Amino acid sequence: MTSTVETLPGELINGLYREGSPIADTKAPKVPLRDRWEERKFNARLVNPANRRKMHVIVVGTGLAGSSAAATLGEAGYNVSAFFYQDSPRRAHSIAAQGGINAAKNYKNDNDSVFRLFYDTVKGGDYRARESNVYRLAEVSANIIDQAVAQGVPFAREYGGLLDNRSFGGVQVSRTFYARGQTGQQLLIGAYQALERQVAAGTVQTFRRHEMLELIVVDGRARGIVVRDMVTGQVETHLADVVVLATGGYGNVFYLSTNAMGSNVTATWRAHRKGAFFGNPCYTQIHPTCIPVSGDYQSKLTLMSESLRNDGRIWVPKKKGDDRDPRQIPEDERDYYLERRYPAFGNLVPRDIASRAAKQVCDEGYGVGPSGRGVYLDFAEAIGRMGRAAVAAKYGNLFDMYQRITGEDPYQVPMRIYPAVHYTMGGLWVDYDLQSSIPGLFVTGEANFSDHGANRLGASALMQGLSDGYFVLPNTINDYLADAPFEKVPADHPAVVDAVESVRARINHFLTNNGTRSVDSFHKELGQIMWEYCGMERTEEGLKHAIGRIRELREEFWRDVKVLGTNEELNQALERAGRVADFLELGELMCVDALHRRESCGGHFRAESQTEDGEALRHDDQFAYVAAWEWTGLGEPPVLHKEDLVYENVEMKQRSYK
Ligand SMILES: Cc1cc2nc3c(=O)[nH]c(=O)nc-3n(C[C@H](O)[C@H](O)[C@H](O)COP(=O)(O)OP(=O)(O)OC[C@H]3O[C@@H](n4cnc5c(N)ncnc54)[C@H](O)[C@@H]3O)c2cc1C
Repeated sequence: MTSTVETLPGELINGLYREGSPIADTKAPKVPLRDRWEERKFNARLVNPANRRKMHVIVVGTGLAGSSAAATLGEAGYNVSAFFYQDSPRRAHSIAAQGGINAAKNYKNDNDSVFRLFYDTVKGGDYRARESNVYRLAEVSANIIDQAVAQGVPFAREYGGLLDNRSFGGVQVSRTFYARGQTGQQLLIGAYQALERQVAAGTVQTFRRHEMLELIVVDGRARGIVVRDMVTGQVETHLADVVVLATGGYGNVFYLSTNAMGSNVTATWRAHRKGAFFGNPCYTQIHPTCIPVSGDYQSKLTLMSESLRNDGRIWVPKKKGDDRDPRQIPEDERDYYLERRYPAFGNLVPRDIASRAAKQVCDEGYGVGPSGRGVYLDFAEAIGRMGRAAVAAKYGNLFDMYQRITGEDPYQVPMRIYPAVHYTMGGLWVDYDLQSSIPGLFVTGEANFSDHGANRLGASALMQGLSDGYFVLPNTINDYLADAPFEKVPADHPAVVDAVESVRARINHFLTNNGTRSVDSFHKELGQIMWEYCGMERTEEGLKHAIGRIRELREEFWRDVKVLGTNEELNQALERAGRVADFLELGELMCVDALHRRESCGGHFRAESQTEDGEALRHDDQFAYVAAWEWTGLGEPPVLHKEDLVYENVEMKQRSYK
């Protein structure tokens, strides 16, 4: 079956959105791919060191993307203010990253190269990423490892002392550097040390427990932010020459996800409302190896790192509803369905393929565990081959974590896993310089619409966040700041006053509304709608239904939400109310984006767009573009700007991992 779209410029489409003029990245130089980054660095204007001291940069977020950016800009001599909502940068969600970080070092001599990493990433993203950015990411990847090693990040080493590598999904080489199952934590300690060094040097000032609630735009440029001190409740204004958002992803719109509980969309959504286009909001990554949902009162899902698929084998019983102890099920009664269907990549197919395959076998009734929503990830063969000690050395902390959560010992019985929301490829649209559609607003890490297209290959988010923060932004931001310092913005400027008043009005509304429903109950209901209709499988009918329900829920939220406590204290219900309010707007845009994209790509299976044998079907003739959405007001149809994706160095093909 194929699908078609009819879009008449300017007209209301499906009653939901309008199409505006196309958008394009104008910053990537028009030279061969291999020379683009060098050329851009050379052409970008510079700011001399004495002038940098006169300029003020705001960085919001101190995860890997933000810490690395703030530290590097501080070291370059800029005055940096870094904001984050945790009590320490070391608690950013980046700390959760387990499995590793990719780099095209070819240490294993297995024919890896910058071009192969570029190629794998474009293909893995189902040909929905920008070639220029992905190539630069692959190029810079090797520098990240050198930088981290110089900082003392304890990457795993082989017996002889060389850095070790392992494989992740969607590739046939070993290029993933790792620090046991704690890669994000160790990289974050490195970035945090670099940040603290600048704090001690006086170039960076950190603002802990400060949540950005509004962006200040003056004369079309981003000039500052409004934050709430989460301990005292004080609403503050901070003004600068340029603003960088490194505020992470929005997977928590689904309520249940592997993200930290605090991960949210507020910073990027407030910027979107002020004019920053939102790119590909419907692109969400569903990770295949998570611990299955166990009950109604759960608020968080746990990832089991993809690295486990290097040695673990995924299977389900061949007989539907087979509830025998898995160890009693003989080999010939097991279906190692990934190895069977994708012999070339086997258990290391990309995440979207592995997730969809798990959903399929469970939908067909072969799932295991109490809910029937689970498949086995089995280490019996690996333990037999390598020995328990070797398996423990590689994955010990992940096994311990699984045992603590489920009460089952994965050395003895296979793990049970099921896909869960994990990462968001969508985010604020940025050009090659990482600048959004608002001049002076730069966006890095998971918060931007990213280099991953419709699906992120494992171990490439850390790579992107650190590439953005250590190497890309510090080179491109100068080009913008070459025109700074800009005229001082007075504290009573109408744009500042309006932003502060809107923040105060929202806080006041939440605290005085006195409704009957908790914030979490709305969040949970929104999450159920998103998972059901905008999750792994989407249909036109379902998405339209979801949009209607989200609108009703949003109306009810503003009418009936109850937030206890006061503003002048640490008030988590108040914090969450603001975040859920933004999720309720984002959720609708995600569904509109998913509805308009009538193709299956990445992990996004559109039931109306499948091959005769039920495989995902892309429509490159109609959808090879980035969807960049413009906000036009609450309840108003958003405007879609298309950025055409041009592939000059790889050929767009239907993906095959067979
Ligand atoms: C369980 C898990 C395991 C993962 N494992 C891997 C892996 O092995 N390899 C890999 O490549 N990727 C992995 N990822 C993905 C990767 O960890 C993230 O994509 C990446 O760390 C995001 O980094 P970031 O700096 O962009 O954002 P984050 O680390 O989420 O940091 C966001 C920052 O923004 C701040 N912030 C947010 N909103 C506001 C606001 N309104 N005001 C003020 N501050 C704000 C926060 O305080 C925080 O400092 C994993 C993800 C998960 C969930």
